[in-house]
Amino acid sequence: MTPLLLSEAIELLLSYIAPIKETEIVDLWDAGDRMLAEDIRAMHDQPPFPRSPLDGYALRACDITGASREHPVRLRVVDEVCAGHVSPETVTPGTAIRIMTGAPIPEGADCVIMQEQTDYGEDTVEIYGQVAPWQNYCPQGSDYREGTILLPKGMILTDAEIGILAGLGLAEIPVIRKPRVALIPTGDETVAPGKPLAPGKIYDSNLYTVGAALRAHGAELSRKIHVRDDAETVAQQIREAAGSADLIVTTGGVSVGKKDILHDTLNLLPAEQLFWKIAIKPGMPTLCGLYQGKLLICLSGNPYGAYANTHLLIRPLLARLAGREDLAPRRVTAIADNSFPKKSKVARYVRAYYENGHVRMTGGSNESGVLSTLRGCNCLLEIPAGSESLEAGTQVQVILL
Ligand code: AMP
Ligand code: MG
Repeated sequence: MTPLLLSEAIELLLSYIAPIKETEIVDLWDAGDRMLAEDIRAMHDQPPFPRSPLDGYALRACDITGASREHPVRLRVVDEVCAGHVSPETVTPGTAIRIMTGAPIPEGADCVIMQEQTDYGEDTVEIYGQVAPWQNYCPQGSDYREGTILLPKGMILTDAEIGILAGLGLAEIPVIRKPRVALIPTGDETVAPGKPLAPGKIYDSNLYTVGAALRAHGAELSRKIHVRDDAETVAQQIREAAGSADLIVTTGGVSVGKKDILHDTLNLLPAEQLFWKIAIKPGMPTLCGLYQGKLLICLSGNPYGAYANTHLLIRPLLARLAGREDLAPRRVTAIADNSFPKKSKVARYVRAYYENGHVRMTGGSNESGVLSTLRGCNCLLEIPAGSESLEAGTQVQVILL
C-alpha cells in the first residue's frame, strides 16, 4: 500500500464520523467553551422592575420644574429604598423617596435626581436642579424582554454568555457532549511519571502531550491507560474502550520492529485496516482502522511524531465530531526567516514559531524522538514533498498549534 497524503488520510477518516448530537447538562461553572444545545429564551424582563441607575431621590419631574441653587424646591421625603428592597410607598405630588443605585423606582415617580443636586435631606429635601421625565430611570425590560432568544443553539459559550446565563438564573446548562477519546499509549519501556525509573526504561510522555492536546481541543479522555507491548492486552483495552469512545488513539508499536504489535492487535480484534502509513515526517507509520464503527488511530510512539500527528490528523476529526471548525488546526501563509538544509522526500513538519506573517524554525533537533525542542513552538512549518532544501525568504504554509 503506498502511503496516503495527509489530506487523503484526513478525508478518508472524516468519512467515518459525523457531528455529535447527544446533549448533556452541565453546571454553569463548566459551561465555558461548550456548545449550547438549545436556544435560550429570557424567562423574565431584565431588569425585572424599573430601576434607579444612581443614588438620589425618586420624584415627579413636574414637581421640580425650574428648580436651581437660587430657587430650590423643597419636597417631603416619605421613604427610603435601597437595592434589594421594595418601597411600599407611592410618590405623590410634593413628595420624594430617597433611593439608592439598583433599587426599584417606587410607584408614582417618573425620574430620579442625583443626590449631588440636593441637600441630602432626610425628612424634607431641597432640590437644586431639574430633570426630564424618565431621566435616570431604567425601564423594566430595557436590557431584554421576556421571551427574547438571548443565546442561539449551537453557539460556543464564552465568559460573556456565562454571565448572561447567570443573569437569567440558570445554574444548569444544556450543551452538546464532548468528543470522547480513549488514549492508550503502548510500550514495554515506558513508566508512569512519579514511579522509579529502572534500567532500560523511560517515562511515558505521550499520554500527557497527546492527552493535553486532545483536551485543549475539546475532547474528554474517556480512558487513559498505558499498556505493555502485548497485542491481546492492547486489543482487550480497545474492546473495552469502544463502547463509550468516539475515537480510540494509541501510540507506539506501528512500525516494523519485533514489538510493533498494533498490526497483530488489529487482526485480533478484529478491526478493518483503513490504511497504514501517511507520506509525512514525522509520523509516517500511522496505522488506522475501524473497530465496531469506531475509528482507531494508531500513532507512532515517537514523542514528536505522536504530538505533531495529534494536531495534524486528530484535531480535524475532533472538529468534525464536535461540529466546531475552530478546533481544527489553522493554516496560514508565512515567510520563512531561516533555512532548512535537508531534502524532504515526503512532506515534513518542522517545529517553529510564527508571528506577524513570519515563521522561524526554533532550532535544535527536529528528530521525532526528541521532545524538549518543542519548547517555545507555536506552529509546525510545512516543507512540501520533493523539496531539495528550504531557503530563508521562501513563502511557506504553517499549521498553528
Ligand atoms: P515505537 O513507535 O513503539 O517504535 O516507539 C518509538 C520511540 O518512541 C521509541 O524510542 C520509544 O521508546 C518511544 N516511545 C514510545 N512510546 C512512548 C511514550 N509513551 N512516551 C515516550 N516515549 C515513547
Ligand atoms: Mg514500541
